[in-house]
Amino acid sequence: KLHNTILELKGNIRVFCRVRPLLPDDATGTDMVVSYPTSTETLGQGIDLVQSGQKYPFTFDKVFNHDASQEDVFTEISQLVQSALDGYKVCIFAYGQTGSGKTYTMMGRPDAPDLKGLIPRSLEQIFQISQSLKDQGWKYKMQASILEIYNETIRDLLANRSSGIDPSRTENGVPGKQYTIKHDANGNTHVTDLTIVDVCNVDEISSLLQKAAQSRSVGRTQMNEQSSRSHFVFTLRICGTNENTEQQVQGVLNLIDLAGSERLSRSGATGDRLKETQAINKSLSSLSDVIFALARKEEHVPFRNSKLTYLLQPCLGGDSKTLMFVNISPDPSSTGESLCSLRFAARVN
Ligand code: ADP
Ligand code: MG
Repeated sequence: KLHNTILELKGNIRVFCRVRPLLPDDATGTDMVVSYPTSTETLGQGIDLVQSGQKYPFTFDKVFNHDASQEDVFTEISQLVQSALDGYKVCIFAYGQTGSGKTYTMMGRPDAPDLKGLIPRSLEQIFQISQSLKDQGWKYKMQASILEIYNETIRDLLANRSSGIDPSRTENGVPGKQYTIKHDANGNTHVTDLTIVDVCNVDEISSLLQKAAQSRSVGRTQMNEQSSRSHFVFTLRICGTNENTEQQVQGVLNLIDLAGSERLSRSGATGDRLKETQAINKSLSSLSDVIFALARKEEHVPFRNSKLTYLLQPCLGGDSKTLMFVNISPDPSSTGESLCSLRFAARVN
């Protein structure tokens, strides 16, 4: 209930901050870079970052410290996930520099059930609840797609690549698939040529996620790039019909692991790296501009400035619900990047 109140008060955009634990490979330093204010009004919502003796305080809808388990995090978002079954369009993003815990938060570690992230947990919950709603006459049709956006180009991670060739590439003069984004009058998004798979249970989704991970790594080696340079977008379309009441709902759940937000030195980057950096900067700043404009109910929302915001347009405006995780590394050498991430998040909050 509290969640709904927060949503109404704040519009439909929330920001959660999550600080990962220090890892053995992190640079060691004796100075604590993050602390959590203990005053009651910001308890669980405040984070202070210290850089060069200066303290920068921030507050968000929720702050998870290094102790927060995957389950703790999921508990806070499970209602939001469930609202996709009620017909809402939901987007959950993970934002932060490479190594800050975005993929851990979204996917988690597949090897240990306790460490599963919010993508597998969300899907388990959705299937479980949709099963239990059968008694009330609800029937659901679910469809999944998984894509990544790299250099402002969409790649279908579920496309069959029998020959290991990227389907969007021109081969022997035959142009590859185009993946053009179109929105119809009903607010549904279509990406031409994108693979859409009907899914009935969690196992089917797990194998899709595995397939996507494989396509990602194949593309990666061919193109000599890092996964941290692309946005990963998982989409579940939910269509529910009630046999008793003939009520219909259409919800969408988008779970997005964003490209690393680190500022790469522009001066050093050339050629492909420079293009890559510019594409990431452009899409992350477009995302921030869009959320900022939506939060202020501005008339013009610049959805068209990037592929990511254009793709997600129907799921970001209107009565859709957005949650952004800002992931933070407590490593003292990351303080500059952490401050940038917190400022980014504070702007959209
Ligand atoms: P990103 O996707 O932002 O680049 P990762 O999710 O890959 O970062 O996290 C970097 C490393 O930190 C990984 O080894 C991951 O397992 C670990 N890690 C991240 N968040 C946590 C956490 N909350 N608890 C434990 N380990 C974490
Ligand atoms: Mg990652």
